[in-house]
Amino acid sequence: ALTIGIVGLPNVGKSTLFNALTRNTVLAENYPFATIEPNIGVVNLPDPRLDRLAEIYGSEKILPATVSFVDIAGIVKGASEGEGLGNKFLANIREAQAIAQVVRVFDDPDVVHVDGAVNPASDMETINTELILADLQTLENAIPRLEKQVKIKKGDAAQLEAYREAQKILEEGETIFRGAPAAKLETEKLRELNLLTSKPFIFVFNADDAVLASEEKQQQLRELVAPAEAVFLDAKLEADMVELSEEEAREMLEMSGQDESGLSKLARTGFSTLGLQTYLTAGPKESRAWTITQGDTAPQAAGVIHTDFERGFIKAEIVSFDDLDAAGTMTEAKAAGKVRMEGKEYVMKDGDVVEFRHGG
Ligand code: GDP
Repeated sequence: ALTIGIVGLPNVGKSTLFNALTRNTVLAENYPFATIEPNIGVVNLPDPRLDRLAEIYGSEKILPATVSFVDIAGIVKGASEGEGLGNKFLANIREAQAIAQVVRVFDDPDVVHVDGAVNPASDMETINTELILADLQTLENAIPRLEKQVKIKKGDAAQLEAYREAQKILEEGETIFRGAPAAKLETEKLRELNLLTSKPFIFVFNADDAVLASEEKQQQLRELVAPAEAVFLDAKLEADMVELSEEEAREMLEMSGQDESGLSKLARTGFSTLGLQTYLTAGPKESRAWTITQGDTAPQAAGVIHTDFERGFIKAEIVSFDDLDAAGTMTEAKAAGKVRMEGKEYVMKDGDVVEFRHGG
């Protein structure tokens, strides 16, 4: 499954946020592994289109798409050098497809900051440096090995070039994700190394009320991390809210001046950062969102429901959500000529409402 790894310095609110994510898991029925992997937290991707579909079809259930997060222990200065613990922690995030860095911007004299003061810019710098150093170590191990392979004509010389280019980027203190485009580095060639800094980043600012209420303060932080996405939330509030009824939670949100829960914001941002999108299916039993990669074809989308659907794919009956919404029923949408039959080559669009035709 696609996951986002959570990193951050100690005492920034990672566990608090992760608690909110895992306790939220009960709501995520659409995620089959939630009960067996305790270190994974799952959040529903909010999607009002599903409510409308459930209304049109009289569905009993709504199953939104989900985004999963893996809990990673904190990174301290020197983590990349630590033979034991530090490296093991870092190894855990190698498997994740994106990294969410929790950054503390809440002021609280009762919560000690590892460096003595709340300073988001320097905190991000510390984490960045540790991740870069860890990647440099990976490359320093991989390059001599590949050099030997190339010498005996078993290795790919172009790949070795890419490794060296990556090393150069990191030595300049830049991440692979940000540095690769300018250096024209094909990150495909680095894939098997699972470099930490080649993954897209999301910055999760664990903020207090003062920051949550200030567009200006948020803007400053956004600019600091751009083009990476920034999410602002109050981890403590999020952890409290998952204990409440939907209505109580909404009231609590309003009181803190927010219109959407931090977990929802995090889910949406995570989803787009991973390059994902959804298509929809609907019927009396359930209205459901399915997760696919942007650019997936109709058979690939069918494969998400069942591998047999991909193999036996014949065609897909598709209407865009907006057209179905406007028509009010599938029958009306058909009468208006809005329902299309699409074949194997069709590239799925976000919000397609689909019924697949497949052979046994
Ligand atoms: P971790 O070390 O990054 O996992 O941090 P924790 O989640 O354990 O949080 C460290 C301390 O900060 C705990 O006492 C939390 O209750 C507190 N904390 C976490 N988030 C917030 C927050 O948004 N506001 C305030 N005031 N305290 C928080």
